Amino acid sequence: MPIRALVWGENVHERGNRVVAQIYPDGMHACIAAALNADPGLSATTATLQEPEHGLTEARLAETDVLIWWGHAAHGAVQDAVVERVCNAVWGGMGVIFLHSAHFSKPFKRLMGAPCNLTWREAGERERIWLTSRGHPIAAGLPDHFELENEEMYGEPFGVPEPMETVFVSWFQGGEVFRSGLTWRRGAGNVFYFRPGHETYPTYHDANVQRVICNAVKWAFSPAARIADPNAAPNVPVAAAPEPIVERGPRLHHDGEEGLR
Ligand code: ZN
Repeated sequence: MPIRALVWGENVHERGNRVVAQIYPDGMHACIAAALNADPGLSATTATLQEPEHGLTEARLAETDVLIWWGHAAHGAVQDAVVERVCNAVWGGMGVIFLHSAHFSKPFKRLMGAPCNLTWREAGERERIWLTSRGHPIAAGLPDHFELENEEMYGEPFGVPEPMETVFVSWFQGGEVFRSGLTWRRGAGNVFYFRPGHETYPTYHDANVQRVICNAVKWAFSPAARIADPNAAPNVPVAAAPEPIVERGPRLHHDGEEGLR
């Protein structure tokens, strides 16, 4: 059975900006999903901000192995309840990939617990993406470096927690550098951030970029069953301790109590 990917796009610039609409007539999410569906090991569908519950219902997330998130203009319009639902799914084992300006999306910031800020410039600069982790599954089939002729510059310092692995770094024509492919683990979920993808350039039509995203979906996928309640914090009564113990001293809580939150 193929890995089930869900490509979420806020779908705002594609409808309101002529340049973006020409590059992505069906939306960036549709372009990315088409690239994933060209791989027989993957099966991709899409969801957008404008759908009820942003297309991210409990049922939809339950049948999603890896979620891909692109947002920029409408981060603030994403409902907090949906953000919490997405984070719970990640903590329960769903993989998630954040693309480009999703560094400021609500779920990414919630999962990172950090400002996630960076420096930036919109000047159509050449981006040279260097592989820093040879043999990493996200870099499978890629050259040691590849270029995007026109991209927005993102520069360090990138305000994220130290990643588990750095898979790519980018150099820009203006001289800045950026850690452009980073992995983390949050709860039982694998998280990947990939930098390229400014909406006024045809980045998601690039074969190397598409390869990275396909590889990342396979990397982020967890075959284990989703953890039903990743926030559960059960009390273990004295009698249920793995080794026999005698209770000592005073206590605040009763056996089996839910505990404070
Ligand atoms: Zn951008």
